Amino acid sequence: MTDILKNIKEQLNAKITEANFEGANIVLYTDNENFFKEGEGKIKEIVEQIKKRVELRADEKILPDKEDARKKIKQIVPEEAEITDILFDDHRSIVVIEAKKPGLVIGKQGSIFSEIRRETLWTPQVQRSPAIKSQITENIRDVLYANSSYRRKFLNSIGEKIYKEWSPDKMDEWVRLTYLGSGRQVGRSALLLQTPNSKILLDCGIDVASKGDDRFPHFNIPEFNISELDAVVISHAHLDHVGLLPYLFKMGYRGPVYMTPPTRDLSALATLDLIGVAYKQAAQPLYASKDVLEMVKHTVTLNFNEVTDIAPDIRITFYNSGHVLGSAMVHFNIGNGLHNFLYTADYKYSRTRLLDPAITSFPRVESVLTESTYGAKGDILPPLRETEDKFFGIIKDTIAKKGKVLIPELGLGHAQETVIRMEEAIRTGRLPKIPIYIDGVIWDMNAIHTAYPDFLSSKVKNLVFQDQNPFTADIFSRVGSPQERKNVIEGGPCVIIATSGMLVGGASVEYFKNFAENPNNTMIISCYQGVGSLGRQIQEGASRVIVEDQVGSREVEVKLRVETLNGFSAHAGRNEITSFFNNMRPKPKRVMINHGEVSKCLDLSSTLYKMNRVETSVPRNLETVRLR
Ligand SMILES: [Zn+2]
Repeated sequence: MTDILKNIKEQLNAKITEANFEGANIVLYTDNENFFKEGEGKIKEIVEQIKKRVELRADEKILPDKEDARKKIKQIVPEEAEITDILFDDHRSIVVIEAKKPGLVIGKQGSIFSEIRRETLWTPQVQRSPAIKSQITENIRDVLYANSSYRRKFLNSIGEKIYKEWSPDKMDEWVRLTYLGSGRQVGRSALLLQTPNSKILLDCGIDVASKGDDRFPHFNIPEFNISELDAVVISHAHLDHVGLLPYLFKMGYRGPVYMTPPTRDLSALATLDLIGVAYKQAAQPLYASKDVLEMVKHTVTLNFNEVTDIAPDIRITFYNSGHVLGSAMVHFNIGNGLHNFLYTADYKYSRTRLLDPAITSFPRVESVLTESTYGAKGDILPPLRETEDKFFGIIKDTIAKKGKVLIPELGLGHAQETVIRMEEAIRTGRLPKIPIYIDGVIWDMNAIHTAYPDFLSSKVKNLVFQDQNPFTADIFSRVGSPQERKNVIEGGPCVIIATSGMLVGGASVEYFKNFAENPNNTMIISCYQGVGSLGRQIQEGASRVIVEDQVGSREVEVKLRVETLNGFSAHAGRNEITSFFNNMRPKPKRVMINHGEVSKCLDLSSTLYKMNRVETSVPRNLETVRLR
């Protein structure tokens, strides 16, 4: 099927100098300037024939000097677009224009883009300049450009593998799903999807709340072999879904990883942060930053609703899951319609401040794997407004007593919801102006949010577009050094938003140690606390806890006020899960459950069975389900 390229070349006779794959897409290079400018009709005919994305680019040989191209682009693009950078991906004949108003770079119906292409022969792409400078997004970009020639070969090799055995009416006999982790537990999400032709890993997480080998998925089973893996698909950037991915690269994996663009940046940041936290605890990190770099080099990003072949018999589409920035439900079309499987991963089926709710309509679905973090009967989450009133009440009480409020947060998702909530509350007078400090990886996560406003709810997106970016509001102060942290600890009443969310390493533990013994202080727990984590012990009312740090471990008496607010959860509550299944189209025939404590998984399983008359199951880790 690599013949697909040969056929195209023959059809377009001598005009094509090179035909390549970029993942599942086809890219043609031509050294004929006229054909580059006028050949669109011919390319369209080919797209019709083969039903694949095909792009025509200019061969390196006919590309003008970069400086000339840069000058021309600045002349063509209106000044109001506010170009901040122009970068050239030499080996792929692409020019990336970074601007504050990307729409103005593209022009009406792509008119400016067409002009750039015609005048410079470079193929333009546009990127929004983030409102907060994000070191990580810039580093990732640099890595990708520095490895442009490697990327070109790598993307081509993916396509060759996909199309080698590809035939449009191929049918497979069976599909199996093996739980390597996340069976009857929250943490270490990893599932192996197998067909006679392909092996795909869904998520590659760790269980941050556990110790020893229980932190990792079961990779030491006969059917899991890194060298046989065709692709990895990542649903979102929480560590229990992506935390072990760089380790796969440390062990030699060099195949593709599919995720959304925000998930790539957030995952790089989250895994680098995990390395940093390990060093601060004087522990050996699981992998090094060079492994994170390999992960970035091998990532292929896909936007929501973009259908892509990832193996000869597997096609995936990401759908918004409403959980965190860039989080996706993954739809698998296996064997050209033979079986359709939806992996929900973590989702939220109501509007949050940051995101729109999860999608419920899909082209076809026979089986679903759903999370059940809050899947039990009692897990009805209180309304957002009610929870917010309580939240602001607790803060006001604590400040009145001259105490400090500590909010341990997951760096991604929860923390940004809190930031937006506090910003609005102070702007509208629901809260008095009080010092708010942000510590840990949250600030950098915020920066990535401002780089991808298209993935945010329309309300927040509009705020960002109107230069009222809540993430850059001056009511927030960043804690950037141990000295600054000391000042906050010794200073007056304030609110501190800090990672980690379960008090397993990170800045939140430092604050907790110093605040725990004063009953005027408050800790507000609003994200999920893993079994065994320090946060969980405190949540369950422990009066004394052991806190570990660089110096060793010591006992701390818990006298501060502890409040749990479930209404802010980024996961679907019980009612949201059941209404998701009520509203889901089409109806699945089978539902499997993961990502929940045992009792919650079992409870949800029996409910979904009764309500929807579908086959349900709650596999344990290491169990395999035959989907077809
Ligand atoms: Zn998550």
